[in-house]
Amino acid sequence: VGRADPLVLGAGPTGLVAAYLLDATFAVGERVGGSELWRYAPVVLRRNAETEELLADLDLPYRTRVARVGFVGDDGVRDSAGALDRLEYFRRTRGVEPSSPVAVPRNFLPEHEVPTFDLSVAELVQALLRFVDVVPARIRGIAIEGDDLGRKIPRVRVVYGETELLSRRVVNTLPAPEFDRLLLGRDKLKHFRPTPNEWRVGRKSFHRVALGSVAEVVRDAAAKYDHLYVVALDRERYPYDRVNFVRESGEHLAVLETNGVINHAWATHGTLTGDFLPLGTSRDPVEFGGAVRHLGRLARWRADVRIHDVVKELYDA
Ligand SMILES: Cc1cc2nc3c(=O)[nH]c(=O)nc-3n(C[C@H](O)[C@H](O)[C@H](O)COP(=O)(O)OP(=O)(O)OC[C@H]3O[C@@H](n4cnc5c(N)ncnc54)[C@H](O)[C@@H]3O)c2cc1C
Repeated sequence: VGRADPLVLGAGPTGLVAAYLLDATFAVGERVGGSELWRYAPVVLRRNAETEELLADLDLPYRTRVARVGFVGDDGVRDSAGALDRLEYFRRTRGVEPSSPVAVPRNFLPEHEVPTFDLSVAELVQALLRFVDVVPARIRGIAIEGDDLGRKIPRVRVVYGETELLSRRVVNTLPAPEFDRLLLGRDKLKHFRPTPNEWRVGRKSFHRVALGSVAEVVRDAAAKYDHLYVVALDRERYPYDRVNFVRESGEHLAVLETNGVINHAWATHGTLTGDFLPLGTSRDPVEFGGAVRHLGRLARWRADVRIHDVVKELYDA
């Protein structure tokens, strides 16, 4: 049985950033660099003091730039969104149910100009991989070994392949449902985590299409905006909720994102569907008496956690 303190679970962007900034022995993850989502989701590495510091630490040259966001209303594309637009975007992406809010916080939609870099998350991942050791493996089990009375910090036993590791400082970036599924002997853990959670999840699908085949309003917006958020009430005209403009091998594509309903007819350049949207209760940042720290959108089960939040949290601590 080996030891690793801290030990990072997961080797996506969150796991790699954590392993780098916490000086972890290594990160264990099945898909090094993270999921396919990065090709589809409009992922922007937001520029702030901490992300600038990270790129400087990594010796990664960059230029600053601004990503432009437009909002598609029933009357066309605009540069700003108001309280009703935010509410409509919530309804489109989260559905309408008894617990739906009457108002949604400002940061639910981005601002028109998002400060960023001329650098993709994929490039950040490549840079991190030069510094971080990764064991590419599927984790098979996680056991928390305490004295059942909570008198001392438990040890975490992590099993992958034929290897077993012990750690008192695990940084988990695996999705909350996956982490729980891997937990062995859950009933023994009551002292450390009294309330097992139901992890609610929403389906999302991404459709990559040639720019020529989308509604004219959207096509025209490609010249001015990087991303569009659809806040229109007309769902027949706009059956998708977000648009991401990308260029690939000289071709201009729109990635249309829908929540729930899937229409494969759109997807001339590939489609991706999955349970990508964490809903409902999120997970506490620290569990098991301090032995496990959950980091990032999937581990915290909070859709509003982005990569720059993770970077800030790590520099702040
Ligand atoms: C529509 C959408 C838009 C987004 N927009 C932004 C944005 O603008 N800016 C931003 O910063 N973020 C954005 N995000 C968030 C971001 O895309 C990711 O959700 C998140 O940051 C991915 O990083 P991660 O490392 O947490 O997860 P992942 O990349 O999914 O990595 C998880 C890792 O855990 C591994 N793993 C899982 N189970 C096991 C197991 N049993 N054993 C071993 N390894 C395992 C996986 O293989 C992978 O290596 C967006 C997300 C979505 C869905």
